[in-house]
Amino acid sequence: MADTATHIEHVDVLIVGAGISGIGAAYYLQKEHRGRSYAILEARGASGGTWDLFRYPGIRSDSDLHTFGYEFKPWRDEDAIASADKILSYLRETTAENGIDANIRFHHKVLAAAWSSDAGRWLVDVERFGGDEDTEELVQFSANWIFCAGGYYRYDQGYTPEFPGRDRFRGEVVHPQHWPEDLDYRAKKVVIIGSGATAVTLVPAMAGIAGHVTMLQRSPTYVLPVPSKDTFANVAQKLLGANRGYALARRKNIVKQRAVYQFSQKYPGAARRLIRHLNAKELPEGYPVDEHFNPTYNPWDQRLCAVPDADLFKAISSGAASVVTDRIATFTETGIQLESGKHLDADVIVTATGLNLQLLGGMSLTVDGTPVQAGDTVAYKAMMLSGVPNFAFAFGYTNSSWTLKVGLLCEHFCRLLSHMDTNGFDIARPELGDSDMATQPMLDFSAGYVQRALDRFPKQGEGDPWRVQMDYYHDIEQLREGSVVNPHLRFGSSNKAADEASRIPAGSAQV
Ligand SMILES: Cc1cc2nc3c(=O)[nH]c(=O)nc-3n(C[C@H](O)[C@H](O)[C@H](O)COP(=O)(O)OP(=O)(O)OC[C@H]3O[C@@H](n4cnc5c(N)ncnc54)[C@H](O)[C@@H]3O)c2cc1C
Repeated sequence: MADTATHIEHVDVLIVGAGISGIGAAYYLQKEHRGRSYAILEARGASGGTWDLFRYPGIRSDSDLHTFGYEFKPWRDEDAIASADKILSYLRETTAENGIDANIRFHHKVLAAAWSSDAGRWLVDVERFGGDEDTEELVQFSANWIFCAGGYYRYDQGYTPEFPGRDRFRGEVVHPQHWPEDLDYRAKKVVIIGSGATAVTLVPAMAGIAGHVTMLQRSPTYVLPVPSKDTFANVAQKLLGANRGYALARRKNIVKQRAVYQFSQKYPGAARRLIRHLNAKELPEGYPVDEHFNPTYNPWDQRLCAVPDADLFKAISSGAASVVTDRIATFTETGIQLESGKHLDADVIVTATGLNLQLLGGMSLTVDGTPVQAGDTVAYKAMMLSGVPNFAFAFGYTNSSWTLKVGLLCEHFCRLLSHMDTNGFDIARPELGDSDMATQPMLDFSAGYVQRALDRFPKQGEGDPWRVQMDYYHDIEQLREGSVVNPHLRFGSSNKAADEASRIPAGSAQV
């Protein structure tokens, strides 16, 4: 619907971001609320988010696609751990099959959103780029709801620490988030700085093509070899058909992911020994496993890195790659001088040093003229913000597939809309009530890149609905089976003289 006087386009739900979460949200919305209008505003010129942005060699998931894929669309490829291009095909098939394509507006970057309680709407400022990104103009949308699926990190820049002497280095320095299409590293000495998921993907992908690849890490990370194919899933799909086989494999993998996580949390010593054993089995006799693969923290205190078919260990065993655990003293003209006194020669240095975390697509929010700082809010059911009406956001699991959570919260969001329709409400605002409730960071990962961003992330509180559980079975109860009515969610109606908002006891109405 276009407002002809001001050219403000109105939609019922404005989805920000056409990554796996935004596409999923669109699917659920059009399935459950056929009559509602929506648009997906996407800053980039392509869908797929993470899976289109990253172009470094070997880019792949580390989750299995039976849990990372949508519940409503079977993953049919026989690779369970999948390359970015396979994930992209799957996502684009989803948008094409469901007519979601037509609702994506590319080159639309959401800058700010202002909520008016009188109007019961968001007014959204958007930067629209020309197809070649050389022209830009400001346009506005209005929406009853915003569903923010803008991911959790900045797209314009990855994180690179200040390295002393960086300017001295005469070779090429590359960040995985901005991989040059024409980077030629054949037969060259490559040093990859980092020990996270990106570094462990890059090492085997570049080894064998490069002259030698060295992974330089300050401290070790847990690395878990996993099979790239899921025989159970592939056989189940053959025997039971795609839908039933996928559903079964998905259930099996959810249980497995949870069991691994819970075992690690409950028995960190045993988990550590088990991972060490699996690593040592894949590495050459006498390899210093403890020096390079035995972290000081417990398994799952930071995200665990999965390596399909032990490819990282195979690259090390073949001699094409090696790991150095040391600290950088300075870059030199020809490589990196380490604090231990050793020098690593390099032609190419890859800074796999992480992401710059950012929530809510970097957009600024105001509610009735008052700016909202995400860091001052508390997350409600890990999908809305205290004090912010008609605003949902997609934040998935960090200890299992991100999308398992996003699917559940999309379902909950749709049920919330149905409840509001039935009861004539058009505003839903989470309210803390007890302002003295103790809060803590929403994420409890100790990784540096998480810690650097925590003050800009919403907090979590004590107990439901303010606790961020990162637990699929808990969320099944809360988001799929539990009522959308909650004493901490205040409903109201913008078009009635008196605010009819009322606090309804939790569980009083199953929606
Ligand atoms: C290299 C890599 C590998 C990963 N592997 C896994 C894995 O195996 N398993 C797992 O569970 N997780 C993994 N993750 C985490 C992963 O990012 C998420 O699981 C998932 O892809 C996030 O999807 P999303 O749609 O929520 O966000 P994104 O994929 O980040 O998509 C967000 C979209 O929103 C757009 N956007 C952002 N801000 C705005 C704005 N203001 N206006 C308009 N558009 C905007 C972006 O352009 C982008 O297209 C990985 C992350 C990375 C970086």
